[in-house]
Amino acid sequence: MRFVAYRQNAVEGLAAADGNGPFHGYAATDSQYPGSLASLVAGGGDRLLSAGRALLAGPAVDLGAVELLPPLPSPPKILCVGLNYADHSAESGFEVPSYPTIFARFASSLIGHGAPIVRPRVSEQLDYEGEFVAVIGRGGRDIPKAQALDHVAAYSLFNDASVRDYQFKAPQWTVGKNFDGTGAFGPYLVTADELPPGCKGLRLQTRLNGEVVQSASTDDLVFDVATLVSVLSVAFTLEAGDIIVTGTPSGVGLARKPPLWMKPGDVCEVELEGLGTLRNPVVDQVAARPGAR
Ligand code: ZN
Repeated sequence: MRFVAYRQNAVEGLAAADGNGPFHGYAATDSQYPGSLASLVAGGGDRLLSAGRALLAGPAVDLGAVELLPPLPSPPKILCVGLNYADHSAESGFEVPSYPTIFARFASSLIGHGAPIVRPRVSEQLDYEGEFVAVIGRGGRDIPKAQALDHVAAYSLFNDASVRDYQFKAPQWTVGKNFDGTGAFGPYLVTADELPPGCKGLRLQTRLNGEVVQSASTDDLVFDVATLVSVLSVAFTLEAGDIIVTGTPSGVGLARKPPLWMKPGDVCEVELEGLGTLRNPVVDQVAARPGAR
């Protein structure tokens, strides 16, 4: 089952599709609205699938006529993995790590499919990073690797757009990874049963203005989804709705000679078989009054 969270006429809604079928759903103002994806994921068990079946009985939802939202607008944790493809580590000048490089994103940076990635006024070094996302369903601490995939409810796509000069102003990457309008997430949340275990054996591709700039097999992950869930849960309790943004392969703009930065008017797409295509235009930050938002 695949889900989209959307907004139409200022009202949020949720729609589902069986495989590649059409989307049907309900607005939050409808009595049949089953709740947000976050609440359904947290509901555990087969809550997500049963809500999906109920949504299929609703009216058709034209995805071209609604604003798509991040499937989960405020995950309890957004855990990003750096340097998780060996070839990307090499192009970035890093050794392949023996422990995953983890950094955090804040929900304030998230945008949905179709929303603009924002090039900040203070930088021209805006880079793309195509990635797939594992969504935690059942939480836990010290999750054994052999059971780790049982804790993953769904998958999605992410463009971990990075402001490179800010990322490397200091050893911690947090600021360069958290500018407003840089964390593109969606378009769908696809339940894990529709994908190979751990999303293995699939091709992840990033295109900038239609040109392929990243292309890799998910088999090339240094730390696969089961390992990430297990290793991360040693440190902290994973909760329903936490997302793991699993890392990007080689081909980022920073590593190119000359560098390839995203600029206003560009369109960046991230595609993975079974998860659809996450497409976002790029715009310049509109100057804001100090303190306004
Ligand atoms: Zn990344």
